[in-house]
Amino acid sequence: MDLKPTPSQAAFREEVRAFIRDRLPEDIRNRLRRGHPPRKEDTVAWHRILNERGWVAPHWPTEYSGAGLGIEERLILLDEMARAAAPMPLGFNIAMLGPVLLRYGTEEQKRFFLPKLANLDLWFCQGFSEPNAGSDLASLRTRAVRDGDHYVVDGQKIWTTSAHHADWIFALVRTEQSARKQDGISFLLIDMKSPGVSIRPIVSIDAQHHLNEVFFDQVRVPVTQLVGEEGRGWDCAKFLLSSERATIANVGLCWERLDYARELAANIYNGAARLLDDPKLQMELAALGAEIRALELTNWRFLLNPDIARGTPGFASVLKLKGSELIQELSALLARLSGLGGLERRPAEGDASLHPYAATASRYFFHRATTIFGGSSEVQKDILAKTLLG
Ligand SMILES: Cc1cc2nc3c(=O)[nH]c(=O)nc-3n(C[C@H](O)[C@H](O)[C@H](O)COP(=O)(O)OP(=O)(O)OC[C@H]3O[C@@H](n4cnc5c(N)ncnc54)[C@H](O)[C@@H]3O)c2cc1C
Repeated sequence: MDLKPTPSQAAFREEVRAFIRDRLPEDIRNRLRRGHPPRKEDTVAWHRILNERGWVAPHWPTEYSGAGLGIEERLILLDEMARAAAPMPLGFNIAMLGPVLLRYGTEEQKRFFLPKLANLDLWFCQGFSEPNAGSDLASLRTRAVRDGDHYVVDGQKIWTTSAHHADWIFALVRTEQSARKQDGISFLLIDMKSPGVSIRPIVSIDAQHHLNEVFFDQVRVPVTQLVGEEGRGWDCAKFLLSSERATIANVGLCWERLDYARELAANIYNGAARLLDDPKLQMELAALGAEIRALELTNWRFLLNPDIARGTPGFASVLKLKGSELIQELSALLARLSGLGGLERRPAEGDASLHPYAATASRYFFHRATTIFGGSSEVQKDILAKTLLG
């Protein structure tokens, strides 16, 4: 399979680069380049700029706010945005819920929600995990009982990223007790302002508030907000996870972090010698670059050729495992380069968040979670053991 870009792909990449160079606000780029997560307003602003150009959901059909572009163009867009330290389109809206609605939603749901997802007029969060249902998601216990033309929802979700920013949540709920626990689960869209919804923050080891617990107490949800058939929500969940594959390896972010490590090392001196010229560090940077390139090629081979992907069960696990491990190695390298300076409180004068080391320690801690969320590394290895080794 030829992985060399075609002339039209190369031209598209140039067009995307020029667009990002011209339109990505400098202050957002500066903060993200230093490793900070995007603020809500950064993501909203960039989403809308991209949406104006039709590029926020390039893989959706044009009648639903997409651009009808292929996987190659989507990969190029994601890659260039990550490399340029732009905020990514909100994954919950674009990579997860949008494709589920396109596949399982009613025409009314598509027309109502998809344009709002694209323009980030509605921010969705993902309500899958529960205190006793993470890796074993099908054990979830949040209940939805039918009452006329509503469901009444009771239960609890946990680790819900950005629930405190969200307008709505897509949630897996149990509508029926079945012999097989994957049956009897339904996929509901719930307005976070509904009476009976409450959230409690969880501050993680990076000292940031990304995560939450979400509680449902007798929350009434119109049945029109059920996606797909009642009791078949597991199909939606599996489809959602497969739709996420294009973003699972995080190759663009790995390149961007490697590039930032080079930038930091070029400005650190040991006496008169630049750290970047240290042969040991050079070897480490080269080895990381080779690993990222290998992941990139594997990503393209799988995603551009569904036959290879189909013939390689567990391929998504390879991408998830390797991508999450690499981002951890890169954030560890950045924390190491920052040394004790990365742990210092920054002086009050100037914008402390723009110090080159400002986010290296907190990102190091945050990235410990990449081998947990989206399916832990142990679970990926189980899948590989079963699918590859039999
Ligand atoms: C930063 C972050 C953001 C998240 N965001 C969201 C979100 O927005 N929405 C949402 O719904 N969820 C979210 N999650 C939850 C995430 O999906 C779960 O944490 C993940 O599925 C693991 O589940 P758990 O935490 O219950 O751990 P458990 O499943 O209890 O696992 C505990 C340990 O046991 C291991 N283990 C479990 N089963 C097996 C097995 N079969 N074989 C071998 N080892 C096993 C795991 O690898 C892990 O080390 C987030 C998590 C994190 C950390």
